[in-house]
Amino acid sequence: MAEPNSQQRVIFNGVEPAQKVFVRSVKGSFRNFKTLMLLLAYAVYFLLPWLRWDRISGPDQAVLFDLDARLFYIFGLIMHPQDVVWLTAFLIIAAYLLFFVTGVLGRVWCGYFCFHTLWLDTYTFIERLVQGERPARIRLSKQPWNAEKITKISITFLLYLLVAFVTGFTFIIYWGNAPDMFFGFFAGELDQAAYITVAILTASTFMLAGFAREQLCKSVCPYARFQAAMFDRDTLIIAYDDKRGEADAGRAKISKDNKTREQRQANNIGDCVDCGFCVQVCPTGIDIRDGLQNECISCGLCIDACNQIMTNLGWPKGLVRYTSEREVTMGIRPKYFKPKNIGYALAFIGGSIWMGWNMANQDPMDMSVRKIRQPMYVQLSDGRYQNSYELKVNNKSQQTVDLGLVIEGLPNAEIDLGRLKELKLKPEQTQSVLVRIKHERIMHSDGQQPFEFVLVPKNIVFDPIRDSALFYTPK
Ligand code: SF4
Ligand code: SF4
Repeated sequence: MAEPNSQQRVIFNGVEPAQKVFVRSVKGSFRNFKTLMLLLAYAVYFLLPWLRWDRISGPDQAVLFDLDARLFYIFGLIMHPQDVVWLTAFLIIAAYLLFFVTGVLGRVWCGYFCFHTLWLDTYTFIERLVQGERPARIRLSKQPWNAEKITKISITFLLYLLVAFVTGFTFIIYWGNAPDMFFGFFAGELDQAAYITVAILTASTFMLAGFAREQLCKSVCPYARFQAAMFDRDTLIIAYDDKRGEADAGRAKISKDNKTREQRQANNIGDCVDCGFCVQVCPTGIDIRDGLQNECISCGLCIDACNQIMTNLGWPKGLVRYTSEREVTMGIRPKYFKPKNIGYALAFIGGSIWMGWNMANQDPMDMSVRKIRQPMYVQLSDGRYQNSYELKVNNKSQQTVDLGLVIEGLPNAEIDLGRLKELKLKPEQTQSVLVRIKHERIMHSDGQQPFEFVLVPKNIVFDPIRDSALFYTPK
């Protein structure tokens, strides 16, 4: 039996607590890919708020979620509250991408991109840096508390806390000017909400990556459960080649009579030398030789481990490899072009094109009209009737816009803007305007007349903005 990737368990009240997993390091292409993804993700998350961006108006931060102004700045894109449909569309498109990737490539999200996996990887790296490789960490965990153990565990936890704090702090600087937030935070000048957010995120990162660790993937994360619905016989999985590894007589450690591949084949022994390396490097502490398991996050580290052993022995790689159920059981190549996968891909591509087109062609302005109903109408001394409306005009462009207001559908009506002499909006400005319309009595039986407010840009060339309304008089 391979040595379990954990320390001995203690049974308390008949309940077996989760064993701590001591992950051994490994070199190989999947490890390199995982590290590359980690560095990329960290570079994006930690550096993005510090990146500056030239705008004609607005903040010079590339990515900024400005709640006060109710504007989200994402490089050249500025999102207004009414653009929330993009966020919904983005989530739907991301879901289709996840379905497609999971249907074809299996659980790669968990193995290489999931935030918890990334932070868990960092915490494991810290552990190894401070306490040493796996055998040293197991030894340390078993030894009684002494100066060495207290020092190493304290340094590990302090580094955990530092990473957790930087993670939490970085989150809040997306919501304000990063340099101001940095100095303001340490000078104690930010709102209470900022300190509470950092405290919650620091604590949750520390607890989840430091203590919940792989248990979060195994027992809490719902994705591990519903991914089965997206899997089929052609989905890429990581599997141990049972036939090659076990042969007829099973696996066996290298011994005098079972040293070379030829000797083992003559004795009907498989290629698995039962070294346990694949188990020791597994971040969730499972044995891939037991078959496909829910706990496997498809990180590929066991492939690297086994390939390393096979290379050292001079035997072919691939005893543990990416494959599919169809390939394992029937020996035939998986089919990727299936209606389900094509449907997910088309939905993703179609959604992305729609969203890109929508963003590129967003209206530079919008307007909404609200009828003021208290009172519904007023009769003027000259016999005409007056209705009042509130116009909310939003300039989403990066230029100052000079506007003219006309109405269509109410001939001879008079527009009264009160003391407002001109309608001029600065870049990204939203303005509410009280408009009174004066008109003769409507002779329809219901006393109502539909019409349109039209905003005509005077200094810029773009289409007039329209919104409809009703004019009321007595029936
Ligand atoms: S079994 Fe292999 S692929 Fe699955 S989680 Fe463990 S190391 Fe990663
Ligand atoms: S690393 Fe390969 S040879 Fe070693 S136990 Fe795992 S499957 Fe067997």
